[in-house]
Parts: sequence; C-alpha cells; structure tokens
Amino acid sequence: MNHPSVWIQELTWQEVETYLAHDKVALVPIGSTEQHGPAGVLGVDSYVAITLAEDTATRTGVLCTPPIWFGDSSHHSGFPGTISIRTETLVALVRDVCRSLARHGFTRIVLINGHKGSNLPALVTAVRSLHEEELPQVMFAVADPLHLARSAAPTIKETNEHHCGELELSHVHHRFPGMVRMDRLTGAGVDFGAVFGGFVGDDLFGPAPDGVEIMWTGAEQRAFAPTGSFSSSLGVTEEKGEAYHEHIVARLCELVEWMRGYDGPIGAGR
Ligand SMILES: [Zn+2]
Repeated sequence: MNHPSVWIQELTWQEVETYLAHDKVALVPIGSTEQHGPAGVLGVDSYVAITLAEDTATRTGVLCTPPIWFGDSSHHSGFPGTISIRTETLVALVRDVCRSLARHGFTRIVLINGHKGSNLPALVTAVRSLHEEELPQVMFAVADPLHLARSAAPTIKETNEHHCGELELSHVHHRFPGMVRMDRLTGAGVDFGAVFGGFVGDDLFGPAPDGVEIMWTGAEQRAFAPTGSFSSSLGVTEEKGEAYHEHIVARLCELVEWMRGYDGPIGAGR
C-alpha cells in the first residue's frame, strides 16, 4: 500500500488521483445508529461495516469512503438514541455517493453493509437502476455478513442469531473493545412464534420457515422486545468475533481481487 491511509477522508485529492492512476476499487461502509440492546452501543452496525472495510482495504491496498453512520432503522425508533433515515433517503444518498466516485474513475464499487436485511433493500434498489440507467461502466457489489458468513456462522455461534445476538456483538467486542458492555449481556430474546406466528425465522444464519416479511413499528418493537434484544448475547466472546471477522474479511479480499482483475461483460459499458 503506497497511500498513507485507506480512508479517503484522510488523503489529499492528489493522493486519491495517484491511486486512481493504477486502481479503481472503492469500498463504501454503510451501517446504522440504532439500539442494540442493553449491551451493544448504538453504532454496532456501523462499526461492523467500518472494520470490515478497513481491514479489507488494508490487506488489498484499496480505498474506503467515509462511513455512512445512518441506515433504515425506523423499526428500532422506540428506543432513545436511534437515528433513522427513510429508505428513500438512503437510496438517494448511496446513489449520490456512487455518482461522485464514478465521476473520478472508481469503476469497481463495493457497498459493505453492517445492518443486514434492513439496509439491503435500499442498497440494491440504489445501485441496480444506477447501473442500468447511468453508470454501465461501473461494477457494483453489495456485501453483507448475512451472506458472506453463511458457511461459517453456524459453526461459530452457539445460539440463534437475530438482532443483538452473539455473533454481531462478539464481532464488535473483538474489533472495538469497550463497545460491548460485557456486564450487560443478556439472555433476553423475542418469542418469534408468539409474535410472528411462525412466519418469521429467529435465526438469520440458520434454517428458516416458509415465511414472509412482516413490518412493525418502533413502538410495536418496544412492546415485544422490551430490552431491545432479540437474541441471547450470553455467548459473546472475543474468539467468536475473531473467527467471524477473519472469515468475512478473507472473502471480501477475494472479491476485491476478482473485481480488480475482472474483464468480463459487467461494468464494461460505455
Ligand atoms: Zn445490528
């Protein structure tokens, strides 16, 4: 790596121009500011995205944009500190960031999401039409632990993982010591069967029922999950966090190397 930081906000414009003379990959970390139960700080999802982007960038020599700290979190808005932007706002924000990157020659853009299924509809919506209608020369990828840890998560975790579970809190505990209150871990969870009638699964990384998506408001969430925790966090350990992190970063590094050398039909427009 011959630039002084992987973060664009810590570089000068000339250092970015030098980078673009030989590379074209940008990583865009996107998280949320939302309640993560009694033990997790509000920034958990953003810290997840930031550390995945930073370590992938450091190992592959690519650049990251400043993180987007806000996401689609209205369903957590019953808890103080949660700051949510509307789905439409997130779509518009991501499109503008990508337009700016593409204008200067970043033609391989990876959105690294730390907020799992709640941000994904907006992120996919943002870049699908952008690629079709405006930026056919850019290859976009949307990356999320939900899919990148699919094979490893069941071997690392010991309990069902939904919101505030042992995997995401172990991850942040490993990379940002102090951001998980280890004396506030809880076994409190949501009785998914009682609340969602068996149509919503309680394990994002495990077997799921034939199901549907059910919307709920911030007030409704506070009623069925009074502590904010959906999954037990009693099993949080640094070792689990490290295994989870290393698995995802390794896969992201493979993605970057593939995109960097890619010469196929996608992103060849114009
Ligand atoms: Zn989260």
